[in-house]
Amino acid sequence: RSPAKRFERSQSEITFDDVAGLANAKRDLQEIAGYLKDPEHYRKLGAKIPRGILLMGPPGTGKTLMAKALAGESDAPFFSISGSEFIEMFVGVGASRVRDMFAEAKKEAPAIIFIDEIDSVGRARGTGLGGGHDEREQTLNQILGEMDGFDPQEAVVVIAATNRPDVLDAALLRPGRFDRKITLDLPDKPARREILRIHSKNVPLHGEVDLEHLAALTAGFAGADLENLINEAALLAGRLNKSVVDMGCLLQARDKVVLGGEREVIMGE
Ligand code: ATP
Repeated sequence: RSPAKRFERSQSEITFDDVAGLANAKRDLQEIAGYLKDPEHYRKLGAKIPRGILLMGPPGTGKTLMAKALAGESDAPFFSISGSEFIEMFVGVGASRVRDMFAEAKKEAPAIIFIDEIDSVGRARGTGLGGGHDEREQTLNQILGEMDGFDPQEAVVVIAATNRPDVLDAALLRPGRFDRKITLDLPDKPARREILRIHSKNVPLHGEVDLEHLAALTAGFAGADLENLINEAALLAGRLNKSVVDMGCLLQARDKVVLGGEREVIMGE
């Protein structure tokens, strides 16, 4: 075995309780979790389970988190690889990693394969600028080939994430491939409140902190931004030698995240 890390394999401890909002996505994935927990039951019913699920949404909306939560809920091993890692590789390396990863996952089925940033390998073929995309194409072809070659009995579900569904090669979206699409939207106010609550669980907050109000002031923030906001506030409280995080720290952290991300803050909802 090559000493280089080929792909990640982990056992996720994350569950749907760690994911705020995204009720529709959770419901869809709950179904898949049911299957992964007891594939035999579904097999006897002759049910065909979706093989490939495409999670679409802006950066930081919880695509990776959702995939891990599915793994945690189903108690299935989680194999992951990121599309962007293939770009720098020598020709053939990406494809062989994909092959190895699918082989391992099948051995450990029921299992979940997660391909982050699928758009980096899954862009429509022949549209790359400047040529030299052999590696990308081979990797993509390998992914497609692996998915086509699944035995219907094999309980392996492939989840791919992207924030650029518009650039994907149509071949990826055909029936039997990533034919189930789930959109993760930016969180609405109740979801932002819940995300703030989840990520401040281990942060001592001042009694006057109003997460509801903070949620109202963070329209347009993704989950990752809110997590970042809480952490920035805790760091600031540390620098100011405070023993708890107060609203002043949270508001300052909010401004920092807004400026840092140069994101447009949507007024109101
Ligand atoms: P990217 O497109 O940048 O890869 P992503 O959509 O995969 O982003 P994640 O990596 O899953 O986003 O999210 C980053 C972090 O933000 C998560 O680890 C989690 O802590 C927090 N987060 C995002 N969305 C949620 C949510 N709905 N509930 C709780 N935490 C969230």
